[in-house]
Amino acid sequence: MSAIADHLRAVRSDHGEITAHCPVDEWDFAPRYTDGVCPICGWRPPGPRVQLPLAARVDWFWPALVALAIVSAAMAAAVIFAYVRA
Ligand SMILES: [Zn+2]
Repeated sequence: MSAIADHLRAVRSDHGEITAHCPVDEWDFAPRYTDGVCPICGWRPPGPRVQLPLAARVDWFWPALVALAIVSAAMAAAVIFAYVRA
């Protein structure tokens, strides 16, 4: 068995999730949710880097808040326009 396989015991769980085993602190983690590193010590498993797509990495709070404000202003303008024209 290779050294990489010794350190990275990649296991697919029932949900198809790949987990890695940190040899430093004996912790199993899913690299997909921890930016590819151990959440305790920062150890990075060997092999290809695991990274989420851009849409999953972006914090959508402020873009969603801006979109909500724009839609609210447009709706307010539409209501005022309809009220004035009626
Ligand atoms: Zn660790």
